[in-house]
Amino acid sequence: MPMALVNWFNRQKRDFPWREDPTPYSVWISEVMLQQTQASVVVPYFLRWMERFPTIQALAESPLEEVTKLWEGLGYYSRARNLHAGAKYIVKEYGGILPSDRDSLLKIKGLGPYTTGAILAFAFKLPAVAVDGNVLRAASRLFAIQERVDLPKTQKEIEKILLSILPNEEPWVFTEAMIELGATVCKKIPDCDACPVRSTCKAKEQGLEQNLPIKKTRPETIYLTRRVFLILSSNGVLVREVPKGEVMAGLYEFPYLEEGEDEAEMLASWGLKQPPLCRFPSVQHTFTRYKAKLEPKLYYTESKRALNGYQWVKLEELNRLPFSSGHRRLLHHVKQWDAKKA
Ligand code: SF4
Repeated sequence: MPMALVNWFNRQKRDFPWREDPTPYSVWISEVMLQQTQASVVVPYFLRWMERFPTIQALAESPLEEVTKLWEGLGYYSRARNLHAGAKYIVKEYGGILPSDRDSLLKIKGLGPYTTGAILAFAFKLPAVAVDGNVLRAASRLFAIQERVDLPKTQKEIEKILLSILPNEEPWVFTEAMIELGATVCKKIPDCDACPVRSTCKAKEQGLEQNLPIKKTRPETIYLTRRVFLILSSNGVLVREVPKGEVMAGLYEFPYLEEGEDEAEMLASWGLKQPPLCRFPSVQHTFTRYKAKLEPKLYYTESKRALNGYQWVKLEELNRLPFSSGHRRLLHHVKQWDAKKA
């Protein structure tokens, strides 16, 4: 099986910038970006990142705000914060060079078994496996594993099986081929007809390909409706940086209220006595397991007060700040209104 997969991969593999001349740093960045994000979406982010932060040293020396700004739109921002913290740690502990042993890599913030395996295999060309969700799915079918794949025990078992069949020659190619198989063929709905290893696939043999992998049921999606207040004054627009510990920490957002929260009280506290200047069409914002409907309204106030962690930011400075993707889509309303007023 391994060689059939390797030969298929060598013929079919997709071209990505991180596959040309991989370095430990480029593998680290690309693999972190690829977690929870499609490869085609990652490409421009990866290119921009490598241009702006070409080395671990450059990343470590950049302000966190600039790092999260470049990440804007990729979601799961803790990944960007961890990359920044990891770079600082690598500069301090290893002079800016990623170590090549598993135990040292695992001590770096945000590096788990998957990314560590990918760095060892693709950058250092060592016999290592990298088991992400795609690989778990493909392997659970290839070997007909009927245990829950979200359990660490099952993941260890899959890792063990894959390590035991790693080819002696260029083992890293097999590791990457498994990732590619899961990403392009053995997808949620498997394309068994196009599969290079269907003749040895146990799930296929036993008619289980649609039933595997076995997973814990996902938490339900939570639907939210948020009234968002775009509040302008001669000082700019009112925003806040989401504090540590909250979802979207480190990103900026406009004030908003959840369904059922008292609007009159909040408007009074900001000195907003007039009705809104206008309302804009709602915007959908999906993050982690939430789907939020944002309902924006525009206000103007003479008040210069900035309450409870909020600050006035000049309109020309807004582009410099990292916003959550939902609130970023409201920025143009503020700018358009300001342009009209001028
Ligand atoms: Fe996946 Fe089907 Fe290939 Fe088995 S034969 S590995 S189920 S695509």
